[in-house]
Amino acid sequence: MNLIDGKKVAASVLEEVRKEVLELSTRNIRPGLAVILVGDDPASRAYVRKKKQTSEQLGIFSQSFELPASTTQEELLARIASLNADERIHGILVQSPPPSHIREEEVVLAIDPRKDVDGFHPVNVAKLAMEDPTAFVPCTPLGCCRLLAEAGIETAGANVVVVGRSSIVGKPMALLLMRKGKGGDATVTLAHSRTRNLPEITRRADIVIAAIGRPNFLKKEHISQGAVVIDVGINRIEDPSCPKGYRLVGDVAFEEVAPLCKAITPVPGGVGPMTIAMLMQNTLTACKRTLPG
Ligand code: NDP
Repeated sequence: MNLIDGKKVAASVLEEVRKEVLELSTRNIRPGLAVILVGDDPASRAYVRKKKQTSEQLGIFSQSFELPASTTQEELLARIASLNADERIHGILVQSPPPSHIREEEVVLAIDPRKDVDGFHPVNVAKLAMEDPTAFVPCTPLGCCRLLAEAGIETAGANVVVVGRSSIVGKPMALLLMRKGKGGDATVTLAHSRTRNLPEITRRADIVIAAIGRPNFLKKEHISQGAVVIDVGINRIEDPSCPKGYRLVGDVAFEEVAPLCKAITPVPGGVGPMTIAMLMQNTLTACKRTLPG
């Protein structure tokens, strides 16, 4: 069994980005990322800080806006409008989930698609579906594709089962894998909570991508010998023996599934670190697209 090391792959993506950012700086060009947080959810705040810290380490100009939970829809849209117009900013993202009074669809629509480094704007969703190479692709599925490529996993002709159909992970993951060409050309099945006989379906897969949000959900009866498993899930489970009182587990019961696998990602240290690395890469891409030629 080969353990796919997301930390290592993410570090090499970040190093590639850092070098390109350095090269751009010799031409007085600096990619910029703005991250907006509404409310005081501690996990979201930690994500926002990590994004700012990583940007700064790479030489990316970074702005974060930690707005109170009482921020109105109009105030948030005004902030986005001013960032759309700000030439120093090439990427804008609003940390999810916002408080319940915020209409998220409208917020996504307000972001200039050229600055939509999360890839959630309908223009980018359509571009991905149409295999337009200028699409911004959501960072987590993009990171999964990079992990498969780095681990030398061939997707062409492979039976891939993606479990989960969310707009941020499962659906774009399926679209990426069914694209024509390198890293795609897979035969994709998209499973979800209404899928019948899930173990039967996942057992037919050469590659299983789990994006479910249920701790240790996929067990050994779901996976066939020699399969590749990418575990996107990040679930907190209580564990008084851990300093924080909880630990993180994936959607796959790692201990029992790993021995069956040709390759598998751990949680933590698999897909997680890739998400932020691909965000940095998307921000660099957004900046480069503003350059002449
Ligand atoms: P969502 O809750 O939006 O989607 C979960 C999907 O799983 C849904 O499509 C749901 O089906 C499906 N599902 C739920 N229960 C079952 C079941 N019993 N059998 C089959 N399918 C089921 O979650 P996300 O896509 O946002 O996230 C998924 C996981 O990935 C979470 O653990 C999340 O924390 C993690 N995540 C990790 C990231 C990273 O950076 N590594 C980034 C983003 C997410 P239905 O549509 O029918 O309800």
